[in-house]
Amino acid sequence: MNADKNILQAEDANFAGRASSQPLISVRGLKKSFDNLEVLKGIDIDIHQGEVVFVVGPSGSGKSTFLRCLNLLEEPTGGTILFEGYDITDKRTNINMHRQKMGMVFQQFNLFPHMTVLKNLTIGPMKLQGKSFEEAKTEAMRLLERVGLADRANAYPNQLSGGQKQRIAIVRALCMKPDVMLFDEPTSALDPEMVGEVLSVMRELAEEKMTMVVVTHEMAFAKEVASRVIFIDEGRIVEEAEPQEFFDNPKSERLKNFLAKVI
Ligand code: ADP
Ligand code: MG
Repeated sequence: MNADKNILQAEDANFAGRASSQPLISVRGLKKSFDNLEVLKGIDIDIHQGEVVFVVGPSGSGKSTFLRCLNLLEEPTGGTILFEGYDITDKRTNINMHRQKMGMVFQQFNLFPHMTVLKNLTIGPMKLQGKSFEEAKTEAMRLLERVGLADRANAYPNQLSGGQKQRIAIVRALCMKPDVMLFDEPTSALDPEMVGEVLSVMRELAEEKMTMVVVTHEMAFAKEVASRVIFIDEGRIVEEAEPQEFFDNPKSERLKNFLAKVI
């Protein structure tokens, strides 16, 4: 692929093909309860640089809680999460520093409604990473160009379609130069005709070896793009496999039942 076609910067050594045996994220015994409700009951998973991990499972099984625990939007009630070798569940860790390295994309976009697209994209790098406006703008425009939305830089979110908003939300996360991108049902709030434009941006990121964790109900997309698929049910990982094996040869009854309903 031509280097300047990349969404990601080829010169960014954080993800440009760095082969490492140490997992980027290492989760052990992760638990999360809300009062008496135990939602995550002990999740163990290693995610390596460049992996594209899809997480599927029934509604209410804990998928969003799992993603939100990964970047500590929810505080785990048990277990540990190592991110780039740092225990981010340790109270002494500066979580803000590490959280910047984890981009998150939500179902509901979460753009700032009172700011233009460009402001939405530059505020993080300026406020959190000390970049100048010019520097932040150059990067924002480069990424907007890549997703075909450079002409929307001065628009406000309510002037954009859902698909455009979600592509902007992805760009906003990328502007922070994350080492991993977390997606929580990024196409679930979109009209069907806008799903494709968002998936194609995600597909490009995956091809460029961005490490990604993706919660989705888009099974065909998971089968096509995932390096690994995880099935979470009732707060546990019940099964995981490479996509072909996962979809064509499910082992557990619970996964078989789930796939029979969603495919
Ligand atoms: P999924 O994303 O798989 O649909 P969630 O992780 O959103 O599931 O939710 C799992 C369970 O945790 C659900 O029963 C949900 O109601 C509950 N839950 C999630 N967030 C909270 C919260 N902040 N307070 C109380 N219960 C919550
Ligand atoms: Mg959810």
